[in-house]
Amino acid sequence: MRFPLSDEDRNEMERYQLRSSCVHCFFYVQAEKRCAHEWPSEQQAQWPLSDASEMSLCKEFELA
Ligand code: SF4
Repeated sequence: MRFPLSDEDRNEMERYQLRSSCVHCFFYVQAEKRCAHEWPSEQQAQWPLSDASEMSLCKEFELA
């Protein structure tokens, strides 16, 4: 799911240290830099989001 990011969104991400990227996900295989479920993750892997105008959320994201 993709949606636009506002300044308020980015400020809250920083203030509350929110995480949403593959690198923060339990299913991310760090050694192989890929999703264990083999989802395409180019958009989802984007991090940090401090300069991003939009972001993606994965329905299987599980905080590691
Ligand atoms: S489950 Fe989703 S968030 Fe987690 S590594 Fe795979 S694509 Fe990324």
